[in-house]
Amino acid sequence: MGVLSGLQPERVFHYFEEICGIPHGSGHVEAISDYLVEFAKRRGLPWIRDEAGNVIFIKEASPGYEGEAAVILQGHMDMVAVSEPGLAVDMTREPLRLAVEGDRIRALGTSLGGDDGIAVAYMLALFEDGSLKHPRLEAVITVDEEVGMDGARVIDLSMLQGRRMINLDSEEEGIFLAGCAGGARIRCHLGTPASEHGGRIWQVTLGGLKGGHSGGEIHRERGNSNLLMGRFLRGLSRELETGLLSCEGGMADNAIPRESVARILVPEGAEENLRAFAAAWEKEAGAELASRDPGFFLRLERGEAERALCLWGEELDRCAAYWSSLPNGVQAMSQDIEGLVETSLNLGVLHFSAREGLEADFSVRSSIESAKRALLDKVGALTELAGGTCRVEGDYPGWAYRVHSPLREKMTALYEEMYGRKPRIEAIHAGLECGLLAAKIPDLDCVSMGPDMRDIHTAQETLSISSTARVWEYLVRLLEQKDGEILQERRRL
Ligand SMILES: [Zn+2]
Repeated sequence: MGVLSGLQPERVFHYFEEICGIPHGSGHVEAISDYLVEFAKRRGLPWIRDEAGNVIFIKEASPGYEGEAAVILQGHMDMVAVSEPGLAVDMTREPLRLAVEGDRIRALGTSLGGDDGIAVAYMLALFEDGSLKHPRLEAVITVDEEVGMDGARVIDLSMLQGRRMINLDSEEEGIFLAGCAGGARIRCHLGTPASEHGGRIWQVTLGGLKGGHSGGEIHRERGNSNLLMGRFLRGLSRELETGLLSCEGGMADNAIPRESVARILVPEGAEENLRAFAAAWEKEAGAELASRDPGFFLRLERGEAERALCLWGEELDRCAAYWSSLPNGVQAMSQDIEGLVETSLNLGVLHFSAREGLEADFSVRSSIESAKRALLDKVGALTELAGGTCRVEGDYPGWAYRVHSPLREKMTALYEEMYGRKPRIEAIHAGLECGLLAAKIPDLDCVSMGPDMRDIHTAQETLSISSTARVWEYLVRLLEQKDGEILQERRRL
């Protein structure tokens, strides 16, 4: 007996539990990909698997639905595999340990992978059930969405007939996503001259910031520790002769950095000046950040006296001028959708060493392709002017909001009929696979939806049982509904 047996819809939770029994963190998707192919083989469904491990399978229209528009159902098979600190678990080998707590399912000590295992479970339950009525269904299940959408990037969709796609990778019931941002990473490098100087080493930590996801939280204008460090060093180098030995800040280009640590060298005897400057600077920056990042702090730690290779004096001032003037944060808000960030960037990761110079990695996003390119070019131009170079990686297209979308209109009408209220139609500033897939399917009409989940990508992730059931019922009815049926019923009323 599984932990989830007894829950409804029974087959959806049956498949979800099977999926949770197969380790499927990003980068370790062979077994889950095999499982999906086995599923299709056993049921005689036409299937394709490409070299990346992406799986497509097809279910023909049920009798009477041959003339209806084919529907693509889409999700990703990988999950963010994270565990609580200190928990001895090997998520590449061990199955998840599921638990039911009230209306929520979780995995003990680890992420659950409701994102996006529940999408796969829905698809398997839909494809196995011979009693359902639906048009031709095409399931597209990608690999490694969570680490750069690698599967969606390479998948060939030319054999699909569908021009309508329901992406099942959203985590709030009642919200239909209708657009997402495109993005890219830009890595900038500035070589700097190093020279040896004597003095005392100090470690400077700028921290206590809230951070957040650069797609979901950039509009909150939180402090970016990497940029703050650039500002601090620019100010300090004008105050007293300073050398920079190293600096590290941030974990990933798409995470707003919460802490940056620099090792600097100042002449012996300058301790008082340094302390006074740092205290005044902390006060000023703290006041600026007070309402957004009340935990902000600057910490100075005194190190050894030594001679060290560093970026010194005026050279540091020049580098810090570039560093502190890099653009960051929201660059434009959408004029079509209220409250949507149109274009932004985040200086997520920064490294400096006296030997290698400065490397600054940004995540750039925009729902408008040309605005994204212009911003990439701006960062590139600034870096070139400073004498550095840039390279762009992981470029992916956005999914532009369609003013007229027959699929969205049909989904909205059915939602209103079932729940007596309108769904929220939103676009997001984060990236979804829909952008990459829309670029491969001409005139794709797409909506993204899913059941309620909380704390995805963390060991606290949970999935709502009742929401999973409602979304299942909604999907079944949506597929069963022929085009125009809702409108006809309305006219009769
Ligand atoms: Zn996902």
